[in-house]
Amino acid sequence: MKELRENIKLERDSMSDEEVMLKSKQIIERISSFSFFNQSNSTMFYYQKGNEANLNGLMNSLLNFQVKKVILPKTNKDDFSMKIYQINNLSEDLEEGAFEIMEPKKNCLEINKEEVDIVFVPGVAFDLAGNRLGHGLGYYDRFLKDFKGIKVGIAYDFQIVDSIKVKSHDVPVDYIITEKRIIKTNQNKKENKMRPLLSGKEVSERILIELKEKVKKLKDKPTLAIVSVGENSASKIYIKKKLKTAEKIGVKARHYKLNEETKESELLGLIEKLNKDENVDGFIVQLPLPKQINENKVIDSINPKKDVDGFHPINMGKIFLGLSDEEKDMIPATPYGIMKMIEHYNLDLEGKKAVIIGRSNIVGKPMAQLMLMKNATVTMAHSRTKDIAEHTKTADIIVVAVGKEKLLTAEMVKEGAIIIDVGMNRTEEGKIVGDVDFENVKEKTSFITPVPGGVGPMTVTMLLYNLVKAHTHNEESI
Ligand code: NAP
Repeated sequence: MKELRENIKLERDSMSDEEVMLKSKQIIERISSFSFFNQSNSTMFYYQKGNEANLNGLMNSLLNFQVKKVILPKTNKDDFSMKIYQINNLSEDLEEGAFEIMEPKKNCLEINKEEVDIVFVPGVAFDLAGNRLGHGLGYYDRFLKDFKGIKVGIAYDFQIVDSIKVKSHDVPVDYIITEKRIIKTNQNKKENKMRPLLSGKEVSERILIELKEKVKKLKDKPTLAIVSVGENSASKIYIKKKLKTAEKIGVKARHYKLNEETKESELLGLIEKLNKDENVDGFIVQLPLPKQINENKVIDSINPKKDVDGFHPINMGKIFLGLSDEEKDMIPATPYGIMKMIEHYNLDLEGKKAVIIGRSNIVGKPMAQLMLMKNATVTMAHSRTKDIAEHTKTADIIVVAVGKEKLLTAEMVKEGAIIIDVGMNRTEEGKIVGDVDFENVKEKTSFITPVPGGVGPMTVTMLLYNLVKAHTHNEESI
């Protein structure tokens, strides 16, 4: 092992600065395409020393986007222990610690080991079984011993060797990423180890940051109008969320509150005004509407270019005919958000069996069409479907949009399926839950959306995405 250490050191020392930079960049590119990294909510780095890949650029961009927690360790030389802390800024939150390594300052937030999804581990050398030759002091191995997340060795390709003699306390890694490849070590049986969440909250935060940047650059800020009729308590919560998110990204928003007794003609009159108002880029009429008003008539009367909910027959029709232009056409916010999440997590739908439960105009039907356009084989189920489980048991991906708690149970799902839960139900205790028996189903899935924090935040975000799109298109057509 001594000879191996020396040989590797020689090879590392012979690398030029340019070579180190190039290979570090290639390693970061591989990490960025690594699915476990993409789905993680918190990433722990060991600050790199010497010639090992420099991951500072990656840490910096994560800190800028604020979508994942960045966690660094602090070592205690006296008792070989390590504590971990969340940092928010590379230059402000670090100080030189043990072994001249930059470590988090004491005032940073201490993090519990269980909160870390993925840890990047440096080493002198790794073998294909995931065994690691460390720097010799055993800090990392002590920390990694009962670590539940994914352990990823980071190394240059020449640091991968045939075999490493393991000491009893050594902890192997699950993956190794080099500038040339991502190696799944044969230790690895961990596909289900990490919380396999499709975090709509995380994806929507990322999209909102991009939208905010876009809006900042616009001379005239986009304006959203929301029309509500009556006092539906759920609608009130949704409207508040939409207004708050609009404000967050610098979009102007108006709320027209009409009373419960409003006549259909009065509402249609307001819609006509908003259709013509050059200062309004897009608007929504919050559903459901009171009985005296025909919803279809209302949706029909909205200018399709301002229809940020994407419910107008022209916008729907374009989707069904495959004529929708993503650059400028309005796409129904909930299924659009689901497609964005699927895209974010690099989930391939081509040739996959998708089952959609629920056939509403606003979720189920457009969802089926958007998935069909990605070449999934789509089955739609509804209240008259005889045996839903017969379909779901063989599905690769299941979208549930019904509004019934625990409609989808673990027995109905095959191992490794992807589950998207659109439902929103309030339990007797007042808790918001989806349509999926989450606790039991999650054990079988490869990915699942939580409720709350899954589809909900994506819907609000895509509404604003449609609005900024409408505004940009309006500006261009002036
Ligand atoms: P909807 O218009 O009431 O449609 C419900 C669908 O579920 C219908 O197609 C119905 O079938 C079907 N269904 C009812 N009972 C069923 C059963 N036992 N088995 C199979 N299918 C059944 O509802 P929606 O507007 O699509 O909303 C569905 C759920 O998603 C609700 O909980 C809603 O709150 C939620 N939602 C969430 C978001 C979000 O952003 N997270 C957005 C929109 C909706 P039939 O057609 O045969 O009646």
